Amino acid sequence: MPETPEITSRAMEMNKELTGKTILAFEVLQPKCLNVKPDELNQFLANAVIESVTHHGKWIMVRTSRGWLLINLGMGGEILLVNRSQMPAKYRLVIDFSDQTSLSINFWWFGYVHFCALDGLSSHPMIAKLGPNVLDLNEEDFTNLIKPQKGKLKAFLLDQSRLAGIGNAYIHDILFLAKLHPNRVIASLTSAEISALYKGIQDGLHPSLARGGAFYELNLYGQKGGFMMEDIIIGYRENSPCPQCGTPIQKIKTGSTSSFICPTCQPES
Ligand SMILES: [Zn+2]
Repeated sequence: MPETPEITSRAMEMNKELTGKTILAFEVLQPKCLNVKPDELNQFLANAVIESVTHHGKWIMVRTSRGWLLINLGMGGEILLVNRSQMPAKYRLVIDFSDQTSLSINFWWFGYVHFCALDGLSSHPMIAKLGPNVLDLNEEDFTNLIKPQKGKLKAFLLDQSRLAGIGNAYIHDILFLAKLHPNRVIASLTSAEISALYKGIQDGLHPSLARGGAFYELNLYGQKGGFMMEDIIIGYRENSPCPQCGTPIQKIKTGSTSSFICPTCQPES
């Protein structure tokens, strides 16, 4: 599933390549991914010029001269810059541009392509609920956000309405780098532990972002991300020795999800 490193990378690539392009038409093979009818999407955004591409949480936000085009890949997928003579085998929606290039969007499972008026983001039912982008926060903002929270640490970090952009792939290394157990109660965290968590988030996400995201996602040009399985520190490494202390990594149940931890470096209490 794409998380901050992958979504940020896609948005940066799209901002670089798509800004200034004029939309000619949409071909929609999966109308259920839309929040309007296919002919309405064409009507609303035909001749629109792309002004910028950013992201909020797992949404890629294409701002055009005539409204927003909002893309969410759900469990994953590909957004590829192509032309009509070299289309990928699978796609659910294609945007044709006036310069003969096209954007092909495929979802592995189910995703969204939504139209939104330029002044309508605050009433979009899914985007309006998102917390701030995790990497947009400085340490002071992060501290102010987490301090009053109730409940357990992992549940907070994964709750997109409180903090947007961390998912199940990177969270194991983030908590390991911070030396914090996923079940720690937030109210019990010291200032030093919150500071370590902030640093763990930066150190857990930036190396992948710097390499265009994880290997299991393709970039806009069809190439795999450069963050490899061996770059993951403890996530998905059950029984491997902890790189800090040698204790075997454990896979534990935390609520409805699994977590990978070093029981020595990340004590529960
Ligand atoms: Zn350890």
